Amino acid sequence: MNNKKLIDQIDLKDKKVIIRLDLNVPMKDGKITNNKRIVSALPTIKKAYESGAKVILLSHLGRVKEESDKATKTLKPIAKELTKLLDGKEVIFVPEAVGKEVKEVVKAMKSGEIVLLENTRWEDLNNKAESTNNPKLAKYWASLGEVFINDAFGTSHRSHASNVGIASNIAESGIGYLVQKEIEMLSKAINHPAKPAVAIIGGAKVSDKIKTIDNLLKHVDRVIIGGGMAFTFWKAQGLSVGKSLVELDQVELAKEYLKKYQDRLILPIDAALSVEFKNSKPIYNIYNPLEIPENYMGLDIGPKSIQLFKKELADAKTVIWNGPLGVCEFKNYSVGTQEIAKAIGSLKDAYTVVGGGDSVAAIATLGLESEFSHISTGGGACLAMLEGNDLPGISAIQNQGEKSRIAAEMLNPAEVKIDVDNNKKNDESTKELNVNKEDKKEDEQAKTQTIDSDKSDNSDKKEEKDKEDSSNKENDSKEQKTEVIDGK
Ligand code: ADP
Ligand code: MG
Repeated sequence: MNNKKLIDQIDLKDKKVIIRLDLNVPMKDGKITNNKRIVSALPTIKKAYESGAKVILLSHLGRVKEESDKATKTLKPIAKELTKLLDGKEVIFVPEAVGKEVKEVVKAMKSGEIVLLENTRWEDLNNKAESTNNPKLAKYWASLGEVFINDAFGTSHRSHASNVGIASNIAESGIGYLVQKEIEMLSKAINHPAKPAVAIIGGAKVSDKIKTIDNLLKHVDRVIIGGGMAFTFWKAQGLSVGKSLVELDQVELAKEYLKKYQDRLILPIDAALSVEFKNSKPIYNIYNPLEIPENYMGLDIGPKSIQLFKKELADAKTVIWNGPLGVCEFKNYSVGTQEIAKAIGSLKDAYTVVGGGDSVAAIATLGLESEFSHISTGGGACLAMLEGNDLPGISAIQNQGEKSRIAAEMLNPAEVKIDVDNNKKNDESTKELNVNKEDKKEDEQAKTQTIDSDKSDNSDKKEEKDKEDSSNKENDSKEQKTEVIDGK
């Protein structure tokens, strides 16, 4: 992945340059609530139009499953924000990603102009054409330009029409500045870390994240495990975990790792408990810190674990972090994440990177972003790198020095049409299956809590959490007294 052609190595002048970005920003009531991803895309956009390219921007926004999703999943507000951030430079918005208007606007483009097409995932309404990398859609988009730049790191672990598809059907391709930086920074930490190197894996997606351990321990000295991940390992050691988050089908693998890696895996030695999944006062089992009674659940690491983790980090020259150490959406259970973030920030001469949507959000909320060498913009993409997997969106890009992949008989743009019915006929059931599987994976935020027998919806939990958060704000200002479970 480190020898991909760079945007700086491609002559962009007067060429139609398609740039795939990740402009998937959070929005509320049609307003952008955080423009970080748009800001991160600016250097590549500027480079392209300042080089005299005709710049065609593509991005996804959320998921589009039915016609009605189009109303909220539109990039129109993002075109406006881009213009603002580019000091008034016009960004022409085309309210479709495929169609007559796209063709006309692109045909009329002059050098230095910027066009933003509508959300690529609108094409998922056409038999998931975008998400299954439909060849016709891929060729259609590729036919709009002569050069393709992938600068959407966040979707690089996916094989979609708007990244892999275009790259495979266009004469010349390269990576943008954001992807270049992400690959450089993450590879440096994951594959060639200065030693001692420590990885921290937390969060809730046990089955997704546990697989990173094998690859990480090829490169780093030790892996600290926290957050919901930890209790699957506690369970594997025969400890009682009460109602804590556990993925039972991962317990065997956890046992295997404990045996294989022994003291290179660092587990918490106590936990901050609660009887409910809410922002209550943390309870500590001070007499038996390694035991969680039946009606309790661990929502954060405890003070002894904080001390242990700090000790394990003290001499680190590289730290890689993915996944919060507790339910940091609840203020009372964000202490572990906060303390460890501060400890990492205070390390001298250490190279420190954080990835993962919730981890990065937690660090931003704590105001500790500047404490890290690199904060990744990719959740799934970062995780794929931690696992040691290639990213299809990057692999599909030309290598440096590689000649054009598509010969002169490149498709004639005028002849490439998307035929909705035809696509339907071409429906490959296996593809459908894969997509559904992925959907399920991405959509699920379900925490396999062993908590209640009633498997209440996670969104309810979130709401509950939000409510709890605001209702606990008053309490937060008051001093939190530590509750203790009576010794036995
Ligand atoms: P990231 O988005 O950084 O990759 P994950 O999505 O894997 O991280 O996990 C983040 C979630 O993990 C957060 O919503 C947090 O509440 C949850 N979490 C952390 N610790 C625990 C715990 N002990 N029990 C339940 N959930 C936890
Ligand atoms: Mg997450």
